[in-house]
Amino acid sequence: MNLEEKQNTTKMEGGASEGQQPVRKTQNRRPSTGKTSAKSRMPKEQTGKGQESQEEGGRRKASPGTRQNQGSTRTRGEQKPGRTSTGERSGNTGVSRQSSARISRDMNLPAPVKRSGRKDGTGKLKIIPLGGLERIGMNITAFEYEDSIIIVDCGLAFPGDDMLGIDLVIPDVSYLKQNFDKVKGFVITHGHEDHIGALPYILQQLNVPVYGTKLTIALIEHKLKEHNLMKNTKRKVVKHGQSVNLGSLRVEFIRTNHSIQDASALAIFSPVGIVVHTGDFKIDYTPVFGDTIDLQRFAELGKKGVLALLADSTNATRPGFTMSERTVGKTFDTIFSEHVNQRIIVATFASNVDRVQQIVNTAYKNGRKVVVEGRSMVTVMEIASQHGYIKVPEGTLIDIEQLKNYPPEKTVLITTGSQGESMAALSRMASSTHKKVSIMPGDVVILSSTPIPGNEKAVSNVINELSMKGARVICQDTHVSGHACQEDLKLVYSLIHPKFAIPIHGEFRHRMAQKELAEFMGVPKDNAVLVSSGDVVALDGESCEVIDHVACGGILVDGLGVGDVGNIVLRDRQNLAQNGIIVVVLTLEKHSNQLLAGPDIVSRGFVYVRESEDLLDEAHGVVSEAVQDCLDRHVGDWGKIKNIIKDSLSDFLWKRMKRNPVILPIIMEV
Ligand SMILES: [Zn+2]
Ligand SMILES: [Zn+2]
Repeated sequence: MNLEEKQNTTKMEGGASEGQQPVRKTQNRRPSTGKTSAKSRMPKEQTGKGQESQEEGGRRKASPGTRQNQGSTRTRGEQKPGRTSTGERSGNTGVSRQSSARISRDMNLPAPVKRSGRKDGTGKLKIIPLGGLERIGMNITAFEYEDSIIIVDCGLAFPGDDMLGIDLVIPDVSYLKQNFDKVKGFVITHGHEDHIGALPYILQQLNVPVYGTKLTIALIEHKLKEHNLMKNTKRKVVKHGQSVNLGSLRVEFIRTNHSIQDASALAIFSPVGIVVHTGDFKIDYTPVFGDTIDLQRFAELGKKGVLALLADSTNATRPGFTMSERTVGKTFDTIFSEHVNQRIIVATFASNVDRVQQIVNTAYKNGRKVVVEGRSMVTVMEIASQHGYIKVPEGTLIDIEQLKNYPPEKTVLITTGSQGESMAALSRMASSTHKKVSIMPGDVVILSSTPIPGNEKAVSNVINELSMKGARVICQDTHVSGHACQEDLKLVYSLIHPKFAIPIHGEFRHRMAQKELAEFMGVPKDNAVLVSSGDVVALDGESCEVIDHVACGGILVDGLGVGDVGNIVLRDRQNLAQNGIIVVVLTLEKHSNQLLAGPDIVSRGFVYVRESEDLLDEAHGVVSEAVQDCLDRHVGDWGKIKNIIKDSLSDFLWKRMKRNPVILPIIMEV
C-alpha cells in the first residue's frame, strides 16, 4: 500500500511538474516531496470536494489563487517550457527539481501497474459507465477508488421516436447519490450536449464541483444560468496539460481535436495505474483553431505504462483517417466561387464553431455579409466570440433584419437545422414558416453535416422541400467527422499501448469494431472488454473484470417533470397517439346502483364524429346493453362494471373497425 502510494505520489510529482497546479497547486507540491504517505494525503482527498474546504489548515489561501493560477499558466503551445515554469511557480520546487522529477517519473514508469497490483490486492479502480454505451448520447462514467469518485461527463440523450412528449433523457445516478460523500466532482471532456446536457439536472441531485476547459465551462455556465444554478455550482477552468487532484485520483486534461474546440482526453492517475479516457476525439494535423491533439503526451503516458484505454468508438467501423476540418473550408471556397450570383445558406451544427469560422472566412473573402440564424447557433456564437474561439472580421456579421438591405448574392446565412429538426431555422425556411427568411429559386443551400442515425428521413424531407422551392441543395464534401477513424485509433493504440482496452462512445457494433482493432494492435483478446452501462469494472494491475452491476438507465424529462414519466405513462401515450381515446360516462345512484344518466360516449383521435354517427350510435347501444346487463345481474363493484364496459366496447370496435382505442369508463355517483 505504502509503496504503491509512494509510487503514485511520485507519479503525481511528475504530473505536477507538468502543470498540475491549476486547481490543487499547493497540494501537488506536497506529494512532490516524495514523502507523502497515504495518511497525509487522506485529509486532502476527503476535502477534495469543495475548493474552499479542501484547502483547509492554512491552505485556504490557495483557493482563491487557484483560478488566477490557471489564468497565468502557460499556453499549450509551449508545453515543455511550461512544465518548467509550473515547477518554478510551485515555489520550493526549482527547475532542477523539475528535471529530477521528470527523470524519476520516467524511471519508475513501467513499474506502477505491476507493483500496485501486487501490493494492493484489495484496492481496485472501479470504472462504472452509467450511460453512453447502448445508445448514442448520455455519456457518463464514474471512476472510483476507495473513498474517491469522479464522474467523467454528464450528458443527455435525445428521446427516441417512441418517447412521446419527452424532451430529453438524463442518466440515473442513484449509485452516485448513494455514495455522495465520495464524489469529488464532474470532469467534463467537452461541451457537446451528450457530455454536458444533463449537468443542470444532475447537479441538483449531486452538488459537486465541475472541471473543464474554458469553452466547455462557458457552455456549461450558459446552462447553469438558464437553470438558476450559477450561484450554487463550483466551476473550475482547467487548461490542457494541467491536472486536478480529486481525492486519490488525479485527472490530467490532454488536448484533443474534435468538432468542438477545447476538447480533452483525460489521463486518470490512480493508485493502480493510469487510465486514459479519450472523450470524443479525432486527430487533426491542421485544425482550424488551436493545436493538434497532444500525441506527444499520449506517447509519454504510453511509455510510462497505461493500464487501460477508454477510447471513442464512434468511427471505429470506418477505415482510413478522418479528414481535417480544413478540407471543408476548401469546399466552401469552391462552392462560393461557383455561385457568385446566388444567395448561400449553410446549415450546420450550432456547436461546430470551427465550421462557422470557415464559413465566415469564405464569406469575407467573397465580400458577403453573414447572418447567423437559429437560437442555439446564436448562443454558441456569442459564447465562442466572447471567449475568443471565433474571429469575425468587423462589419461581416449583420442582423437578420438588415438582410433586405443587401443583394442576395452578397449574403450568407448560417443556420441550424442540418439534422432536419422540425423546429430549427432551416426546416422553417423550407416549409415557409420562417418569419424572416423564405427560400427563393436559385438559393444555394449547403448541408454541412451528415445525418445522425435516425435523422435521415427528416433530413431528406427538408431537402425535398428546399428543392421544390427551387433551391439547389449541396451535401457533397461539406462535412468531416469529429471522430477518429480506424487508422487514427491505431495510432492512439500504438502510442498509448494500454494493457486493457474498454471501448466507449458508440453502439455495440462500434465498440465491437474497436475491440477487434485493439486486439489487432496487440491488446490480448481477454484484455479488450466490452461492458454495458451499469457494469462495475474493477481493475488492478493484473486484471479487469466486471464485479457488480448498479442501477442505470434513462430518466425521462418532460417539461419541468423529471422522472415522473415512466414506461406505463409512455405506453399510454403511444396507445393514445396510435388509437385515440373513447370516454364512456355514466351516473349511478349511490346505493341502488340505478342508472341516472348516460352512458354517454366522447371520443378524441378515434374517428371524425360527424361522419361516424352510425358507428357511435351502435357503440352507444353496445355500452348501454353492457351497463344494463350489469345492473340486472346486480354487479355492485364499479371496477367490474368498468371492465365489462371496456371489454364489450373494445370487442365491438375491433370487429367493426379493427381499431383498438383507449377506452376510459367513468362512473359518477350521485
Ligand atoms: Zn459525444
Ligand atoms: Zn462530442
